[in-house]
Amino acid sequence: MRKGLRLGVDLGGTSVKLALVDERGRLHDKIAVDTVKQPRALVKRLSEALRPWSNRSLLGTGVGVAGDVDTRKGVVRFSANLGWRRVALAGLFRKFKFPSPIVLDNDANAAAWGGYHLELGARPKSLITLTLGTGVGGGLVLDGELYRGVTGSAGEIGHLVVQDGGDPCACGNRGCLESYLGASAMVRWARAAYAKKKQVVEPLDPKILEQRALRRDPVAQEAYARAAQALGTALTSLVNLLNPDTILFTGGVARGATLFLPQALKILKSGAFKTPATAVRIVVARGKTDLGVAGAGLLVT
Ligand SMILES: [Zn+2]
Repeated sequence: MRKGLRLGVDLGGTSVKLALVDERGRLHDKIAVDTVKQPRALVKRLSEALRPWSNRSLLGTGVGVAGDVDTRKGVVRFSANLGWRRVALAGLFRKFKFPSPIVLDNDANAAAWGGYHLELGARPKSLITLTLGTGVGGGLVLDGELYRGVTGSAGEIGHLVVQDGGDPCACGNRGCLESYLGASAMVRWARAAYAKKKQVVEPLDPKILEQRALRRDPVAQEAYARAAQALGTALTSLVNLLNPDTILFTGGVARGATLFLPQALKILKSGAFKTPATAVRIVVARGKTDLGVAGAGLLVT
């Protein structure tokens, strides 16, 4: 990783974070801008927001985008959050004279790369990252390199199938890890379970569900038990498949890890091969919220 500052851009559906990122992933300055859905108008707005940094010498621009990204061509193939289809985003950044090279990747990959450097000091040889929020994101660092797969689509850990014919998932399939462990899936399941018991629990959101589980509410506890079972099943396969030295949990739901992680690890220890299951280190992120923008900056190596 070259010494010096690069520009990191974390492009989400509601806001865009921009930061000056050094070679260790530390942020030196940051700003946030509301997202505009029209790509050209958005990049123009970002270039205007950058003016205070115009006299800084930067090594390049790394961009993490919520969506399916063609890293080699610098094209966003599809983004549900942004409503984009085939947007040549790297070209737009070039047109508005952002520091080059301009490197584009999926935001979950960028966050995994950020976690690898910021949370773990780039020490592990191989790392699996799970980002637990509304959905379940994932990223793989194998032998010290971000693993993207042949079309840049690798690391979709949230869509590992853990239950044949199980609960429907936003991706169109059934039984994905996300449909048990994602915050919105957990809330949806709990709402239906309360309705079945003719229990009125309103409002209900991930935070309230977590508090109810901590107070031993049976429905909330069951939602977490289902999440733990699904996660344990996924971890068993992941550890047997990849033999990583570290698994890192980040994101809002990871903060309630005591409610599901011990049970999931029990399933992992009893299900996976003994040697890789004993060797793997489990880390819950210390709560840095800027892994996405830091990792985006670090895409410029
Ligand atoms: Zn899915």
